[in-house]
Amino acid sequence: MEQKIIFATGNENKMKEIRMILADLGMPILSMKEEGINVDVVEDGTTFEENALIKATEIAKLTENCIVLADDSGLEIDYLNKEPGIYSARYLGVDTSYDVKNSIILDRLAGVPDEKRTARFVCAVAAAFPDGTSEVVRGTIEGIIGHGIAGENGFGYDPIFYLPEYGCTTAELEPEKKNELSHRGNALRAMRAIMEKRA
Ligand code: IMP
Repeated sequence: MEQKIIFATGNENKMKEIRMILADLGMPILSMKEEGINVDVVEDGTTFEENALIKATEIAKLTENCIVLADDSGLEIDYLNKEPGIYSARYLGVDTSYDVKNSIILDRLAGVPDEKRTARFVCAVAAAFPDGTSEVVRGTIEGIIGHGIAGENGFGYDPIFYLPEYGCTTAELEPEKKNELSHRGNALRAMRAIMEKRA
C-alpha cells in the first residue's frame, strides 16, 4: 500500500500551503476530510508542541500506514507575558471578531514603545509515523505589534503583526511571501527535512 500523508486540519488555506511546501516528498497529501476522518481532538496540552503531538497521535490511531501531521500555532506578545499564546484562537472569546481582538490588543499596548512591542508567531508541527514514533518541530517569525490595523491578506492577528525589516504587516504581504517567511512555513520546511532523512 502506498504511504500517504494526512494533515490534521480542516483549514483549506493551510492545506494549500502544506501541499506547496511538501510537494517534493512525492507522497499524496490529504486533509482529514479527504480521508473521511471527522473527529474533534481535545487540545489540552500546555505548549504548542504538546498540542500538535496530541492531535497527530490521536488521528494516527484512526489510520493505517499513514504519516499524520498536525500543527498548533499562535501569537506571543512579550509585553502581555506571551499572551495569547496557545489560547490565540480562543483569546477574548471564540466568537469575537479579529477586528475587535486586534483593536483591544492595540489599546492594551497604547503608549508602549516599539522596543517593548516585540512579538512572534509560533507554529509547532508534529508527525506521527506508522511505526509508532513521532517528531515535533517549531518555526517562528519575529516582529512587533504595530500601531494600527493594516492589510487585507492573511487572517487572525496578521493586520497588527508588523515586520520592521519589510515595513509592513504580514497582512500586507503577498501569500507566497508570507509562506516563505512564516512560522508555519519554517516549521513545515524543518519537518520536510526530517521526513526526507527518514525516507
Ligand atoms: P491554529 O493553530 O489553527 O489553532 O491557530 C491558532 C490561532 O493563532 C489562529 O486562530 C490565529 O488566531 C493565530 N494564528 C496562527 N497563525 C497565524 C497567522 O499566520 N496569522 C495570524 N494569526 C495566526
